[in-house]
Amino acid sequence: MKKFCIFGNPVAHSKSPQMQNAGFKYLNFDALYEKHHLENGDLIKEEFLKNAYSGANITVPHKEKAFKNADIVKGIAQKIEAVNTYILENDKVIAYNTDAPGFLKAIESFEQIYKVLILGAGGTAKAIALALQEKNIDVTVLNRSQEKLEFFKNHNIKAFNFENFQINKFDLIVNSTSAGLKDDLLPAPKEILDEVLDKSSFAFDCIYGKITPFLALAKSLDNKIKGGEDMLLYQGVLAFELFSKTKADDNLIESMRKGLKG
Ligand code: NDP
Repeated sequence: MKKFCIFGNPVAHSKSPQMQNAGFKYLNFDALYEKHHLENGDLIKEEFLKNAYSGANITVPHKEKAFKNADIVKGIAQKIEAVNTYILENDKVIAYNTDAPGFLKAIESFEQIYKVLILGAGGTAKAIALALQEKNIDVTVLNRSQEKLEFFKNHNIKAFNFENFQINKFDLIVNSTSAGLKDDLLPAPKEILDEVLDKSSFAFDCIYGKITPFLALAKSLDNKIKGGEDMLLYQGVLAFELFSKTKADDNLIESMRKGLKG
């Protein structure tokens, strides 16, 4: 039996095992996917090898450490400098970022997206911004503090804080902050959000499982809204394809979606 896991701290809340195990069950693939609480991200490769995992997902706060410890980093993850998937191949730890393509898949139903405003500048914002940039979409990042904006500027992405941001028209506004996750906060001052959401057509929140204050405001201003459930699903499906070396068809994706719902 092959072994897989999700590394995180905390990891108890993760729904990845139920989603990935549902996929393995659907394929009759002899594998077990488990939660692995990891305190020290510096030890991630060592733990991965010691436990004889064939593959793993990596969640908060270890994605950057996982990037640094991998033997080979593939695709857009090289630019993002953070990875959420490990695969063992020929005794080498190969790393990928499936959050970025997972996000693109999740917004496929949104049409005519040429200009996007991303709220937040953390790890998720990096993945989303670079994924959109690769699609030649005009990206702007807005964050409450200055420090994390350098990364975006270094990748030729416009990046502002609340003080120097100038209102513009965007087709899609994405909340990639954690505002709204465990509180009722908006991700930016209401005056700014009112103006940008009034001009935009679509709003996406990376937070899943609830209508956040951001999505509620966007809906009241006539935006088509979507939460982060599909982003979570598709990053998992893309990782699953790497784990099982099988292209996911619609039935497999549906079984993973059901697994996610529990
Ligand atoms: P990070 O901690 O890396 O970044 C958080 C960002 O949010 C920072 O830019 C921070 O600003 C900003 N922020 C935090 N609180 C507030 C607030 N009250 N008001 C305004 N800005 C705030 O987090 P991640 O990028 O890893 O995750 C961000 C969100 O995305 C989380 O809610 C997470 O659950 C969700 N997520 C969803 C996924 C999915 O599959 N659907 C996948 C990954 C993440 P500052 O720089 O000033 O601190």
